Amino acid sequence: MELEFITWLRERTGRQPHLPLGLGDDAAILQLAEQNDLVLTSDLLTEDVHFRLTQCTPQQVGYKALAVNLSDLAAMAARPITALVSIALPRQLAPQLAREIYEGLLSLASQFNVTLAGGDTNCWEGPLVINVALVGQTTSRGPLTRGGAQPGDQLLVTGELGGSLAGRHASFTPRVREALLLHECYTLSAGIDLSDGLALDASRMARESGCGMALEMTAIPISTEARQMARQQPARSPLERALSDGEDFELLLAVPPDQADRLLADQPLKIPLVRIGQCVEQAGLWQRNPDGSLAALSPRGYEH
Ligand SMILES: [Mg+2]
Repeated sequence: MELEFITWLRERTGRQPHLPLGLGDDAAILQLAEQNDLVLTSDLLTEDVHFRLTQCTPQQVGYKALAVNLSDLAAMAARPITALVSIALPRQLAPQLAREIYEGLLSLASQFNVTLAGGDTNCWEGPLVINVALVGQTTSRGPLTRGGAQPGDQLLVTGELGGSLAGRHASFTPRVREALLLHECYTLSAGIDLSDGLALDASRMARESGCGMALEMTAIPISTEARQMARQQPARSPLERALSDGEDFELLLAVPPDQADRLLADQPLKIPLVRIGQCVEQAGLWQRNPDGSLAALSPRGYEH
């Protein structure tokens, strides 16, 4: 990429904590004071697979490319530190496109104190492809993982689910602050961020934890967008959308019963936190019927 762009990027990022060299050397040096474990994640977004430039601005693409990684660190209750960003630009649109992508990405980075350690920007004849690799660090409480849920734990979810394609998928706030606060102040058994739909992600957490998850259909918080989309396209109900639309980027948590009671009473977040079910002995994904019995639930979503 041309020197002018690198100069623009260096001015835009300024002096960055943890990165004594800044941008511009052959590689970045990361200086960390604490001994806590590093947490690494990476996501690749491809035009016309994960987004369309006819429906998203380049700023939204940059925002989302970082936000999906932040959501994964939130799921681990890790504090984000620094990102590496690699972009392949469609030749006819560069370099204006690169700047607009970075504007969106850096605005979110500053909200979460994420520095830019480096990366690469190239042009080619193909579509826009953007990869963000994000480095974070566990807190003194250690990581939160998918694998710690136990039968009897309550299942709690942040926010509202479904209908993210109406716009939220490109402008969501990753639940980093919420995860750090909950992990600090309460004992959590397991956590996952909802990237592929509640049903599928709950079944993933169940599998990693070696137990089952029983969801209570009437307790699932359904977003306004999911209800609106179901009115326009009645083939899928609001509940089905909340179970399987994906890209909600909310948190699903398994919490020991006493902690769940305290959490639900405290409501320590600025967003709703609701109980949607329970971990059970029987492996797999279930819906709890009104009479208390369990029926198998497809990881794709609610089936009548
Ligand atoms: Mg994830």
